[in-house]
Amino acid sequence: MPGIASRLTKIRNTLPHGVELLAVSKTHPVESMLEAYNAGQRLFGENKVQEMVLKHSQMPDDIQWHFIGHVQTNKIHLMAPFVSVIQGIDSYRSLAETDRQAARFGRTITCLLQIHIATEETKFGFMPDECIEMLGQGEWKSLDHIVIGGVMGMASNTNDEKQVYSEFQTLTNLFNTMKQRFFSDSPAFHVISAGMSGDYVLAVKAGSNMVRIGSQIFGERNYSV
Ligand SMILES: *Cc1c(COP(=O)(O)O)cnc(C)c1O
Repeated sequence: MPGIASRLTKIRNTLPHGVELLAVSKTHPVESMLEAYNAGQRLFGENKVQEMVLKHSQMPDDIQWHFIGHVQTNKIHLMAPFVSVIQGIDSYRSLAETDRQAARFGRTITCLLQIHIATEETKFGFMPDECIEMLGQGEWKSLDHIVIGGVMGMASNTNDEKQVYSEFQTLTNLFNTMKQRFFSDSPAFHVISAGMSGDYVLAVKAGSNMVRIGSQIFGERNYSV
């Protein structure tokens, strides 16, 4: 895919200071990822564990790998040796399993809590109340090999910008509530991961500080490969 470096630069130039760019490379070959890497990109996101494991073995060592898909607990052990951030934590069970697997490798894995903010039922995530309740129960405090780094959300797939913006705002408000109630002493809890190729400008306006961009960097995905 020609032009990856220039697309990256273009996107970076539109992001305010303090907003991180995760390059979502799922389905794209390592050759494309290397183009992004050579243009300075170090944060990459994948949503299939086996694909990420394979690419990890082929790419340079100083990459931060983010898992952004729905987490199947029986696959966490495969990525536990190297994954930096798991963005799709949507149950206490996967949080606890990530802790257990990170401990086996003497590591600490950052986890983002995925919140269901869209109206579609197909999107994974905690309902906001459910997430607050889980945090209120406090068991997570005994997990020594994970750090809760913030929240992640996906807005509805709609052209209604008002709705999308308001869903992103819901995520930011929830982040603020959680920060105040559970993480006021934790500088690590700082990430609001929101916004993809089609809606990241709105997400950033609503408070996102990490955007996850795939097709605007690498081109359209071909799921049949
Ligand atoms: C695929 C994906 C993205 C990137 O989508 P684009 O529209 O290609 O930018 C972002 N977040 C998640 C969770 C994804 O699965």
